[in-house]
Amino acid sequence: MTTVPLRLGISRCLLGDEVRFDGGHKRDSFLTDIFGRYVEWVPVCPEVEAGLGTPREAMRLVGDPQNPRLVTIKSGTDHTRALETLTTNRIAQLMELDLSGYVFKKGSPSCGIERVRLYNEDGIPNRNGVGLFARAFIEQFPLIPVEEEGRLCEPTLRENFIERVFCYRRWQDLVQSGVTRRALVQFHTIHKYLLLAHSPQQYEVLGRLVGQAEQHRPKEFAHRYGELFMKALAVKATVRKHVNVLQHILGYFKQRLGAHEKAELLGVINDYHQELTPLVVPLTLIKHYVKIFDVGYILNQVYLNPHPKELMLRNHV
Ligand code: SF4
Repeated sequence: MTTVPLRLGISRCLLGDEVRFDGGHKRDSFLTDIFGRYVEWVPVCPEVEAGLGTPREAMRLVGDPQNPRLVTIKSGTDHTRALETLTTNRIAQLMELDLSGYVFKKGSPSCGIERVRLYNEDGIPNRNGVGLFARAFIEQFPLIPVEEEGRLCEPTLRENFIERVFCYRRWQDLVQSGVTRRALVQFHTIHKYLLLAHSPQQYEVLGRLVGQAEQHRPKEFAHRYGELFMKALAVKATVRKHVNVLQHILGYFKQRLGAHEKAELLGVINDYHQELTPLVVPLTLIKHYVKIFDVGYILNQVYLNPHPKELMLRNHV
């Protein structure tokens, strides 16, 4: 990776800033104290930046799911225009910052990315809303990984989001340095096992695309690969798919193991398959042998180290 910091957008209240409608905050200690060590946060509070002040009257989404309005609950003041103007300007600024991800506050009529309360004209709510700022961000940056802080409490979702952030950053670096056919083949190769842990089908599709690289215009081709790459990584990785990957990797050095070592490693993989241990257990042993036997092709695989080990994300999946 380049030396440019890993930069992520974030709903400002999650950093502990007192910007919420009630003058409070929603500090998330995993984001501030742990993930924050690896990230340069770009805090955004759409409501404060739109000039609505703190504290302010609570708001909610009202009306058409595709085109809702942001209205205060008691006085019925419509702040949609103010939010939309801020959103247009802020998104133009964010385009300059090469964000690699965004963490949004769940449930907010400005920041929530799904299941936000949306009220019809009779005041009856459903959960079909998307926050006004979040919706515009996702439309403008469809490849950038986004997640809500509430969902990041779930270990699998947390691991997947952070993995996608680091992968997207590598993709951004590649795009900035120029997507030659050679560079793309190398990029595709080092992500092989990570992609297989998510979607063997998408890995095949991407492989065919790489094989056709010379038939397409470089810019369109890079865009297509990036789109499919990020889509593949968003597919849930399962225990079964991880076991397949571990067994594939084992195939590179299994002939060099003694009977006892082989039985032990297969036992460890089986324990993970039975969900008796987390992924980090078989993976640590696999990495040990990959280093001992100096299996160059596997040593370069992102799958072995997709994010900093200090985050301990694979201790819980
Ligand atoms: S959820 Fe969004 S709009 Fe609301 S306080 Fe947090 S950053 Fe501001």
